[in-house]
Amino acid sequence: MTDANLSLWQASAKEQINLTSLSESIQVDVAIIGAGYSGLSCALTLAKQGVRVAVLEANTVGYGGSGRNVGLVNAGLWMPPDEVEAVLGVEASNTLYEALAQAPDMVFSLINDNQIECEATRNGTLHAGVGRIGMKQLESRYLQLNQRQAPVVLLDENEARARIGSNAFSGALFDPRAGTIQPLSYALGLARAAISQSVSIYQNSQVVSIDAHAQKWRLKSSSGGEVLANKVVMATNAYPEKLFPQLQQSFVPIQYSQFASQALPDEILKRILPNKEGVWDTCTVMSSLRLDQSGRLIFGGMGGAGLNTRLRDWADKRVKQLFDYLPKLDWQYAWSGQIAFSHDHLPHCHLLDDGIYSLVGYSGRGIGPGTVMGKELALHLINSNHKMPLAMTQVNKVSLREMKRSFYEVGAHIYHYGQVLT
Ligand SMILES: Cc1cc2nc3c(=O)[nH]c(=O)nc-3n(C[C@H](O)[C@H](O)[C@H](O)COP(=O)(O)OP(=O)(O)OC[C@H]3O[C@@H](n4cnc5c(N)ncnc54)[C@H](O)[C@@H]3O)c2cc1C
Repeated sequence: MTDANLSLWQASAKEQINLTSLSESIQVDVAIIGAGYSGLSCALTLAKQGVRVAVLEANTVGYGGSGRNVGLVNAGLWMPPDEVEAVLGVEASNTLYEALAQAPDMVFSLINDNQIECEATRNGTLHAGVGRIGMKQLESRYLQLNQRQAPVVLLDENEARARIGSNAFSGALFDPRAGTIQPLSYALGLARAAISQSVSIYQNSQVVSIDAHAQKWRLKSSSGGEVLANKVVMATNAYPEKLFPQLQQSFVPIQYSQFASQALPDEILKRILPNKEGVWDTCTVMSSLRLDQSGRLIFGGMGGAGLNTRLRDWADKRVKQLFDYLPKLDWQYAWSGQIAFSHDHLPHCHLLDDGIYSLVGYSGRGIGPGTVMGKELALHLINSNHKMPLAMTQVNKVSLREMKRSFYEVGAHIYHYGQVLT
């Protein structure tokens, strides 16, 4: 049975912290808005260098994408490297590629150094090819990554079948640098690490206004407190609340939903993802699958409406297509989250005003990039000569945002319907 108010990640998080809301007036060097990977990684890096930091979170730590995602810690970006090069040019794309190729190393080191209990499993991920078109995509990605010395391996149909436990895929691209985590626990563990470095984190403290006051920025919170800060970081990605309307207009919010089954019996776990890699596929409307440490199957796909009706029906049928030997699944948890697709599908660091920065637009790949970009922005705030792996840009409005949002949502449902028709 589903608890409609709880995600699997909330139910199984081993990391726990108790935080209060901001009800007083405080002064810091840097105020960070949003307690996800970007904000917390930024806070942790700043605090380690002796900078006074406060993080204000409108809800609870990991309320946004950081507590809702699939937990695939991948290297690089979702967009293939040649396409990134076409947008940014050779030099800038190489810099970004190098920084994000190291992202899983950084995430797993942070987990290790801070003893974060987040089911960290570094057995790689599999990008599963569906049909000839899917395999062409994977071959092209393989060549592009190979040229850049990434240790990826292209698996044939038999190898993919053995690794995934399904006949539905024609091959897979294996990336040994990657892995899986319990995403909410990772966010909570980062928060614990930041607090241990004297960062003040306030929950249920939505920033409702920012204005200039006594040569600083003054942030007022919904909880009655205020912060005076020299610099401000908006680390709100797909969940920005009103403060900067232009930021909201800079991405298309796309829903992605996941379902988690009961723990599967041992004889099934020997067949389905026996090495516990995380998987996503090459379908036009992507799906993902993975196991958690208790042996639950977690299946997900684009779309948010009809979590307990249409999407659940699709999940039932699609999983049966992929693994016909599975027993009847009882989806015990179902939840959705919002992805921020920027106009060019690349993350962005914006300068919103003098001393106000934002990190936004991870376009569905934010565990590694959010952790890296949070740290890089922190280093830039400490020393303006520090060159970030992404140039600071002005905010770009996405055209026809609402139309695109509806198009993706409706398109996902139509695609799912066709996918399980046969
Ligand atoms: C369903 C889903 C699946 C995904 N799967 C993957 C995956 O497998 N691998 C991967 O790498 N990436 C994945 N992503 C992307 C990744 O989760 C995000 O890119 C990443 O979590 C962004 O982190 P963040 O810290 O920038 O923002 P968030 O984690 O979204 O945090 C933003 C925070 O800002 C807070 N906030 C907003 N406005 C205010 C305000 N005014 N005052 C105070 N606080 C405010 C919000 O409450 C929120 O907690 C997925 C995303 C989703 C939604």
